[in-house]
Amino acid sequence: MTSYTPEYLRKLELKSIEEHNKSRFTFLEKVGTGVACPECGKELVESQPGVILTSHPPKKLVHCESCDYKNSILA
Ligand SMILES: [Zn+2]
Repeated sequence: MTSYTPEYLRKLELKSIEEHNKSRFTFLEKVGTGVACPECGKELVESQPGVILTSHPPKKLVHCESCDYKNSILA
């Protein structure tokens, strides 16, 4: 029987559940958007990482950590 070691999965370019969850957790800590705050020019971050509003088109909430600017951007 094959054992799905991390080495084996890497060969398939797949991740183990543990690796996936760890990367998701890091991802959930703070998500930059690459979008500048229109008020102060700092990068906007996602207010609810991983959550996409079911608007049409889908959007996500973002805010600025420097000046508290809040808005939503297209997901
Ligand atoms: Zn700002």
